[in-house]
Amino acid sequence: MKIVVCAKQVPDTNEVKIDPVKGTLIRDGVPSILNPDDANALEAALKIKDDYAGTDVTVVSMGPPQATIMLKECIAMGADNAVLLSSRAFGGADTCATSTTIAAGIKKVGDVDIIFAGRQAIDGDTAQVGPQVAQRLGLPFVTYVQNVRELNEKERKVVVERQLEDGFEVIEVGLPCVLTAVKELNTPRYMQVGRILYACDEADIKVWNEQDLTLDPADCGLNASPTKVMRSFTPPPKGKGEMLTGTVTEMANSVVGKLHEKHLI
Ligand SMILES: Cc1cc2nc3c(=O)[nH]c(=O)nc-3n(C[C@H](O)[C@H](O)[C@H](O)COP(=O)(O)OP(=O)(O)OC[C@H]3O[C@@H](n4cnc5c(N)ncnc54)[C@H](O)[C@@H]3O)c2cc1C
Repeated sequence: MKIVVCAKQVPDTNEVKIDPVKGTLIRDGVPSILNPDDANALEAALKIKDDYAGTDVTVVSMGPPQATIMLKECIAMGADNAVLLSSRAFGGADTCATSTTIAAGIKKVGDVDIIFAGRQAIDGDTAQVGPQVAQRLGLPFVTYVQNVRELNEKERKVVVERQLEDGFEVIEVGLPCVLTAVKELNTPRYMQVGRILYACDEADIKVWNEQDLTLDPADCGLNASPTKVMRSFTPPPKGKGEMLTGTVTEMANSVVGKLHEKHLI
């Protein structure tokens, strides 16, 4: 089996603030982490590697050179290979251009059976990249995967549970396919000491640019990004809540009165 995991290095959003004047993210001094859903995607791939001898797991990321640190963490968790898609031409990419580049990277890896991605990245938060990559590669996809029930390499199919708001659906999909992971899928493993040393000293992180991917710069980055961000802002804090007092009936009447006042009922 050949598996690719799409992984994005993201700022730890617990630490991110928005510049109130420019409306842009203040990234300075903010630690970068492996996008949490992507850690679940990687764990799913590594679990298959544990169960199916000969499985090869390659992590692919598009980002700046510092994303190699995150890729080394993926190797330390157990991935076999890591590729960074990095070039000035890829800068300013929206999801449309991001997925074009990632799909080209996956094509270059070649003969992939399963592509795992996270459901969404905690910074961009669009949840578009996984399905877009599938569309660009002409592959079927299942989003919100919360369990991989069965993988049948011979019959070239995988059976997964797709999370719904109030349950799940069971979907069988043919290989090759794209699956996007939610956090309920698994608990990502820790990095192993031996693998950390290997990742730091020996692992070869490949770096591919638009020439390596035979992509026209016009199809990459800002040049190929139709999305325009008009404004980013922090929503104003909600007003203070009001505590009601009195008997249950008085409080219930008060709630009904307030809902009437606001024309909500
Ligand atoms: C006009 C515009 C300009 C932008 N310029 C920049 C910029 O200069 N620099 C910048 O960092 N961002 C930029 N962004 C944000 C960038 O478009 C998104 O971060 C990116 O397209 C991914 O979208 P997302 O974060 O919503 O991912 P989602 O769709 O929420 O991610 C879903 C999954 O797709 C995979 N994935 C997503 N992104 C990557 C990636 N890069 N590599 C590997 N796998 C990935 C992961 O598995 C992830 O869990 C820009 C956005 C716009 C609209």
